[in-house]
Amino acid sequence: MKNNQFNPADHIQDLQYFGEFGGVNPSISDSSTYTFLSAKTMFDTFEGNAEGCYLYSRHSSPMNLYLGEALAAMEGTESANVAASGMGAITPVLMQLCSAGDEIVSSRTIYGGTYAFMKNMLPKWNIKTHFVDITKLDVVEAAITNNTKVLYCETVSNPLLEVADIERLAQLAKKHNIKLVVDNTFSPLSVAPAKMGADVVIHSLTKFINGSSDTVGGVVCASQEFINDLKNVNNGASMLLGPTMDSLRSASILKNLRTLHIRMKQHSYNANYLAEKFEKDGLKVVYPGLKSHPSHEIYSNMINKEYGFGGMMTVDVGSLDKANELMELMQNRNLGYLAVSLGFYKTLFSAPGTSTSSEIPLDEQKEMGLTDGLIRFSIGLDNDIERTYQMMKTCMKEIGVLKELQQA
Ligand SMILES: *Cc1c(COP(=O)(O)O)cnc(C)c1O
Repeated sequence: MKNNQFNPADHIQDLQYFGEFGGVNPSISDSSTYTFLSAKTMFDTFEGNAEGCYLYSRHSSPMNLYLGEALAAMEGTESANVAASGMGAITPVLMQLCSAGDEIVSSRTIYGGTYAFMKNMLPKWNIKTHFVDITKLDVVEAAITNNTKVLYCETVSNPLLEVADIERLAQLAKKHNIKLVVDNTFSPLSVAPAKMGADVVIHSLTKFINGSSDTVGGVVCASQEFINDLKNVNNGASMLLGPTMDSLRSASILKNLRTLHIRMKQHSYNANYLAEKFEKDGLKVVYPGLKSHPSHEIYSNMINKEYGFGGMMTVDVGSLDKANELMELMQNRNLGYLAVSLGFYKTLFSAPGTSTSSEIPLDEQKEMGLTDGLIRFSIGLDNDIERTYQMMKTCMKEIGVLKELQQA
């Protein structure tokens, strides 16, 4: 099935859950352990042979399974496993797929924490990562060796908004018999990587999916076989490393998921509006919805148009000083918060070089085009985006980032 014929929001909507007392939301099970009516069933559950029985909440809990089911429906995978954070989803996947001596080929423009884990921690277990420009398929293929087990990328990268051509990367992964793992955090609903051949799709639920900046969370969406491997009581990384989400939290994330489709449309509409206006004003804007974006064509063919090009954009204002000055002024005018993270109702902005990507050494930042004056915006759900635009433009003029283009 082509990605653009797959509508993830409809799949989520088609799931029907009833609470224990006929509630319109599933009941929250507030237990870490579960009773068995017979000792034999407990043994079978340990062996993984008792479908529908719960053992211990680090392994499974009813609410985590509900949330996982909804997210698997969203990504079009057989199954999913939720985790207490995005990193709590990413790190077990890599440790499950790789053993000592194995290698990873990864995009070099990825979330700072993922980069730090691959670069500084995985070598302790003799797992080596080659960081490449993911938009150059020949470079990606050249980095694959007989020891490579994983090809890793973000659909739309953090913070540079590079686009990974998932379909062609999936073909490459198949050809070399390795797993394609995609972090889809920036593009929920817009892109369904598993429908384009990705083996494992990961989200930080902390961002757009939960959308209220009140918790961290993560999910791994994949085949039933791989999810079972992650949860295996003897050698499953998700089971044994213990990044389990609490049931109360998964209940609140499931409720927020109900409005994701409406929120994504508004995030995309607003970001596209500002990106077009600011580019016309002469600013250096990066947004996948702009024709000037190097992967605009590729991304246009990847997305489910209904949900747009996403809520993330970057603007380069020339220097770190100007970036800081502008962000402080915008915060004073209540246009958003100077904060990391993304996917909130309110616009969030930060300078990635000194914050979320500070794990990446300065010379490497420069090489990948991560400049000092870069501001990453997560555009909010503002009702009147023209009004926001006018107010932001005033801030930019006041500090000299934007020259008056037309004198009256
Ligand atoms: C935030 C983020 C993560 C990490 O998620 P946490 O929930 O903070 O652990 C991973 N990947 C991307 C693209 C992110 O934006």
